[in-house]
Amino acid sequence: MISEKMQEFVKNSSAIRAMFEEGKKMAEEFGADRVYDFSLGNPNVPAPQEVEDALVDIVTHEDPLKIHGYMNNSGFDETRTAIAGHLNELYHTRFTADNLVMTSGAGGALNVILKTLLNPGDQVVTFVPYFGEYRSYVANFDGVLVESPTDSEHFYPDFAALKERLTPKTRALIINSPNNPTGAVYPEEVLVEIASILTAKEQEYGTDIYLISDEPYRDIVYGSTVVPWVTGYYHNAVVASSYSKSLSLPGERIGYLVLPDELSGAKDVMAAANVASRILGFINAPSLMQLVVARCQDAKADVAFYEQNRDDLYGALMAAGFECAPPDGAFYLWVKSPVEDEREFVKAAKEEEHILLVQGRSFGCPGWVRIAYCVSHETILNSLPGFERLAEKYQL
Ligand code: PLP
Repeated sequence: MISEKMQEFVKNSSAIRAMFEEGKKMAEEFGADRVYDFSLGNPNVPAPQEVEDALVDIVTHEDPLKIHGYMNNSGFDETRTAIAGHLNELYHTRFTADNLVMTSGAGGALNVILKTLLNPGDQVVTFVPYFGEYRSYVANFDGVLVESPTDSEHFYPDFAALKERLTPKTRALIINSPNNPTGAVYPEEVLVEIASILTAKEQEYGTDIYLISDEPYRDIVYGSTVVPWVTGYYHNAVVASSYSKSLSLPGERIGYLVLPDELSGAKDVMAAANVASRILGFINAPSLMQLVVARCQDAKADVAFYEQNRDDLYGALMAAGFECAPPDGAFYLWVKSPVEDEREFVKAAKEEEHILLVQGRSFGCPGWVRIAYCVSHETILNSLPGFERLAEKYQL
């Protein structure tokens, strides 16, 4: 018999994954070109050439004992130094290898930092809608996820509501910009306000409230959009990131945590994160990939590809009468369901048009759906008549 906790996790197991599995079955039944699977955030832009070049060079020339061996749990010094140098160049920070812990993706980074910080019953606030796995990640360490609303135009935080949700039991606030599922990117003013609210609450309660910035989509932004670097605004800010989306390496499980010197108890946090990585069973992040990303700091995803998808999909859906959040980054479109219960819309899209969407309640926000547009451009174009028929059906 599995544990009671796991019974809950299994019961609530991701609707996104379920839809993805369903999409594979439908592709077999109807043909892949007649199924429009927008369910999973799996990049379909290949990893940049630099990744393959680095891989080949490393396996050809480096010592296999180094490539495949155990190491310091935080990761290779050369990798952490390369990342610190890259961040310093971009954001005028002063990080060293000591501020970095290499992790198994951003998911690994979030689990490591939550294990490091949470006592049972501690509260972790996040803004709705949010990446549904936060629920499980927080529950992994017996924390309590507290949802805080956003406005329904730009999906920026509602600051008054945030103030109400911060209590003496609040240990952390997780933010995610560029955002999954809305595509929102928080401008500087939003970070300034969040920092000011957290600082005031820390003083009022005499506690530490860590700001965990989950940033796997930092490099995927459109037009002149800028993603401000969060550690410049708040002393207790931690960054969780990965190369899953920016270098199209989600299966390789490579990411990192940035733990600035300004954190309360910085040295203890760093030491604990190192141990957390080990005792969660990650030990260290995948070694070959650490060596690869060390050499690919300047490599970039083909953002123009996603931008074209975004423009065509967003333009067509708005023209058809759908209400969509304006997407400045990541590769998701957040669309208001034309009927109150978005599951009905998801079902109609799937059954009538073979269009696979994800229900908003998976992100804590019923009444909306998410479209992951990290698919071929052809899939976008071929899906548009189906969306138009759905708009007619619901008289938009
Ligand atoms: N955070 C967000 C907001 C995500 O969308 C994802 C993956 O889709 C993750 C974290 C996990 O990323 P990784 O695959 O790097 O663990």
